[in-house]
Amino acid sequence: MTDLTDSTNSPENGLNSNSRTNGKRRHIVLTSHPSRSGTQALPIRWGQADPLERGPIVATVSDPKHRNAIGTHSGSYAVYRALAVASGVLQPDHRPDLTNTAPAVPIGPFPSWGDAQKIVSIDPFGALVGDVYQPLLAQGFDIRPTIAVTNAHIQMPELNEAVRAGRLQEDGKVMKPGGDLVVTKAAIEPVWYLPGVAERLGASEEDLRYALFEQTGGMFPELVTRPDLKVFLPPIGGITVYILGDVAAITDPNRPLAVRVHDECNGSDVFGSDICTCRPYLVHGIEACIETAQAGGAGVIVYFRKEGRALGEVTKFLVYNARKRQEGGDRADAYFARTECVAGVQDMRFQELMPDVLHWLGVTRIDRFVSMSDMKYNAITKSGIEIVERVPIPDDLIPADARVEIEAKKAAGYYTAQGPLSEEDLALIKGRGLVE
Ligand SMILES: [Zn+2]
Repeated sequence: MTDLTDSTNSPENGLNSNSRTNGKRRHIVLTSHPSRSGTQALPIRWGQADPLERGPIVATVSDPKHRNAIGTHSGSYAVYRALAVASGVLQPDHRPDLTNTAPAVPIGPFPSWGDAQKIVSIDPFGALVGDVYQPLLAQGFDIRPTIAVTNAHIQMPELNEAVRAGRLQEDGKVMKPGGDLVVTKAAIEPVWYLPGVAERLGASEEDLRYALFEQTGGMFPELVTRPDLKVFLPPIGGITVYILGDVAAITDPNRPLAVRVHDECNGSDVFGSDICTCRPYLVHGIEACIETAQAGGAGVIVYFRKEGRALGEVTKFLVYNARKRQEGGDRADAYFARTECVAGVQDMRFQELMPDVLHWLGVTRIDRFVSMSDMKYNAITKSGIEIVERVPIPDDLIPADARVEIEAKKAAGYYTAQGPLSEEDLALIKGRGLVE
């Protein structure tokens, strides 16, 4: 049997595959076991307030001897990087030139950044690596940003409609004449501190590592062979944050803050599908953010790539078919049962990690929380953030076919001022058939 206990770059210790490129034998470096070269890796002390004390996250594959994390950058897009390398258009050892890429607006540091309990799924220093780790970059460490912050103008036709209806005003600052919204936006890649993630889920670290290893088809052997590596960059979608108004207002106790935490729904968010309330609720959230920003505060939209309750779009479309073809048609009283039949669970979003992004932003109080989800509300308040008011979606924004979803959710515990429908009334809420 091949000895895998050492995986240095030296040919005598590594593995040689039978494949050849350009006539040369290809050398494969296994990362699954500690190696002599691994001793050059810097330790990570998760939860330290000083970024140098905490240590950089080194997860690039171009810097094997300094790697101190499992997985790599760009989430699922790492696979596209592999295609670019395989097809010969990208040098595998390319290093990014970070000139002029620093955040357009400063965010943090906040006390939460130095609290190992508050943030377990984001590197709070992820936007600042070019600055705080400059000495290490100069020494040749390949440290990459996992957060980028920039400015933009955005436009949505529903908001122009809201101006025409008199609900919103163009103030020339938050909303420019013509409806352009001035925003600061941040893109965030997940960086998981595995002991902290396990604790949030109520699992042991060992069980979490084993499940991650198995359910990705054995994609990251270090999850089970390298318990010394505590940080994992998972191959999943990340988060985008849109901030309206003054970024400094987010942490100012004297100024109001509106927040919507939105989980991706491509069918509704982008294509306007009428089977759910996602885009109408997102737009309603942005309206609340504009009002709050114009009142001297700030508004924050957090957009998570958790398509179809993190079940993915294939499962989601299968469920749509099952709902509409079931005996009696698409009904609110059978809404969750159909999802569970196909997916095995009603929801895979695990809001336990969601509040981390709010703690990265330094949020301690939300004046207007634009969501009816009890799971989101509970996760945020449990993490120590106060929620003053919960804002439900106005009835006139709910598409007719989406009544099934919203009434089923209210019956399951979503926030509602009027209370949920009775069981009999719930059974009367029906959606369109599959071919209507
Ligand atoms: Zn939706």
